[in-house]
Amino acid sequence: MSETADLRSFVLDLLEDLGAEWLDRGPLTWVRLPDERAEALEVPSSFCMTFAPDQAGRFDAELVAPGSYMLERMLTAATRRGHWGAAKVDTPSGDWVVRALADGGVAMPDPRASFPVRLWDAWIYVFLFRVTLLADEKRESFHAIAVSEDGAESWPESLDLAEAPLVPVPWPADEPQVEGRYTVASRTLEARLSSNLEAFRRDCLSLLEEEVRRVFGYFDRTARELRDAEPSVSEDLVRAIEAERDRRLSEALERYDPKAEARLCGIRAVRVPTAEVLLPTRHGPIRVRTDPWTRNVRGLSCDGCGSTVGPWTLIAASTWRCARCVDATAGESARPREHPPSDTLPR
Ligand SMILES: [Zn+2]
Repeated sequence: MSETADLRSFVLDLLEDLGAEWLDRGPLTWVRLPDERAEALEVPSSFCMTFAPDQAGRFDAELVAPGSYMLERMLTAATRRGHWGAAKVDTPSGDWVVRALADGGVAMPDPRASFPVRLWDAWIYVFLFRVTLLADEKRESFHAIAVSEDGAESWPESLDLAEAPLVPVPWPADEPQVEGRYTVASRTLEARLSSNLEAFRRDCLSLLEEEVRRVFGYFDRTARELRDAEPSVSEDLVRAIEAERDRRLSEALERYDPKAEARLCGIRAVRVPTAEVLLPTRHGPIRVRTDPWTRNVRGLSCDGCGSTVGPWTLIAASTWRCARCVDATAGESARPREHPPSDTLPR
C-alpha cells in the first residue's frame, strides 16, 4: 500500500469510529458526521475532504495529510473518546528488569548480565483491531498489536493487557505521527492472521464444494424422477428446473465467498519505563529491550524461523527460539501432526 492509501484507510477507520458516513468521488470524499462529532472536529456536519494536495480547496475540500490541521483535529477528537487514550506505567520497585526479561522467556544465566545498558521512558502504541471474516456466517475477533515508539518493533499483545486500567496522561505531544505506526501495526496484524485467513478460505471452499454437489445431486435427481414418471415431460419444465438449479448455485457462490476486513477500533499510547540489556546470541551479543508492562523481549530473532515475536526459549548455548518453533518441535516429537478438521465452520 502507498503512504496515501495507508493514511486514507487510517482516516476512514477513524471516521467510522466517530460514526461518520462517506461517499468517494474520485480524489474527493464527502463526509457526513453526527452533529456532536462535527462540533468536536470543528467542521460542518457535511464536508468534503481530500488526500491529494493538488485537490485541496476544490468544493472547499479540506486536505488530510500528515501535519495538516484537519488530521490533527481528527486525532484530537479521536483521543477524547474512550478507546483512544494515553496512560503511563510507573517504574515498579525492585529489580523489574530481571523479572520482565524472565517473563519474556529470557532468564539470564548470570543475573549480573541483565544490568541495563540503557534505561529510559518510551511510548508503546497499542492498536485495537476488529477483524471480521464473512462468508455464510460471520466470525469476529479482536486483536491488539503493539508498536514501539520509533515504529521499528511491533508484536501482538493480549487484549487484557491492552485494556487494563492505567493512570491516564495527556496524549503524546509529538502527534500526529500515529498513521506511520498504524501501517506497521496493520502489517503485523496481517502476518499474524495469514494462517487463520488461509484456513478460513479453505473452510469456505470445502463448504462450497459440498453445497455445489448437494445442489447438482438434488436437481439432477428431480429432473430424472420427472422424466421417469412422465417421459413426455415438457422441455420448458426441465429448463425451469435447470434455471432454479443455476440460481441456487450462484447463491452458494455468493454465500461462501470469503471476505475479510480489519477495522481499527482504538489506539492506546502507554508511557513505559524501558530497559536495554546486552544478550548473548550465537551471532554475538545484541541489544534487546523490555518493559515492566508488556514484559516482552524485543530485538531478538528466532534461530529457527527468524520471527521477532517472543516469548523466547533458550534451547542451547546462546540459541533462542520463538514459542511457535518450540511448540512445533514439541508436537513433532510427541506425535505425528494431525490434520485440522476441514469442517470447522458451524452450520
Ligand atoms: Zn521461530
